[in-house]
Amino acid sequence: MTDSLVFEDVTFSYRGSGGKKAQILSQLSFTIKAGEFVSVIGPSGSGKSTLFRLISGLETQDEGKIFMNGEAVQNRLGHIGYMSQKDGLLPWLTVLENAALPLTLKRLYGKKAQKDVIEQLERFGLKGFESSYPHELSGGMRQRVSFLRALLSGSELLLLDEPFSALDAVTKMVMQEWLLEQWAAMKKTILFITHDVEEALFLSDRILVFSESPVNHLEEIVVPLTRPRTVADLKDPAFTGLKEKLLMDLKKMVSI
Ligand code: ADP
Ligand code: MG
Repeated sequence: MTDSLVFEDVTFSYRGSGGKKAQILSQLSFTIKAGEFVSVIGPSGSGKSTLFRLISGLETQDEGKIFMNGEAVQNRLGHIGYMSQKDGLLPWLTVLENAALPLTLKRLYGKKAQKDVIEQLERFGLKGFESSYPHELSGGMRQRVSFLRALLSGSELLLLDEPFSALDAVTKMVMQEWLLEQWAAMKKTILFITHDVEEALFLSDRILVFSESPVNHLEEIVVPLTRPRTVADLKDPAFTGLKEKLLMDLKKMVSI
């Protein structure tokens, strides 16, 4: 497998008022392989979203290098698909217009593209909602539009920042299974932030743990579950045992 994303000794601090610095990352190195599903887990305020801001180029590291597909380009925003906890849909645009936004911005949105997006909305269970506005949809539907928009950025690497944390438990489960199906079909690389241990285990090949502040290294947990996975597996004793163990490990690791 080729490397999708490589951090090499990356250091980053926010500069607060009065020149005070808050260091978030300290010489952090890690690698994500193409096609992997990797979750990032850690306490709130530990710098998970900041990591995504660095990957997307919204923030610039103070030291170190970030490589995407082997290249150290600075402007990576056009090369990643991003989906956040709040779906980030624009309330004044229709479902179709929201989903197609990356194509519109790249001036790639014509009649043919519109037909493709409508087809994809249909596959995502949104048939008949093309002309609806975000407020007319359920939370799960809004997240599916948001995910489609991230996909239509055309990027190999998708950054999903706690995308399901605002959903109710049942919708969340349905969306997790749905996401795994999409990932398997599309062969994208996914980095997924969550603070939900069960969610991280269910979805991921590997889990990276933010366990100190500033973050100097990421503890890695390889998930030994086979695929495809379904929500029925959540009740499997192997899964619940693993979850208990991971929770205990996390308790020991996290020192913030
Ligand atoms: P997480 O996503 O793990 O909850 P964040 O990456 O959002 O954490 O934030 C990490 C730390 O950096 C927090 O202490 C937060 O207050 C601080 N922080 C986040 N964004 C900024 C910013 N734009 N300027 C200054 N400090 C920030
Ligand atoms: Mg965050």
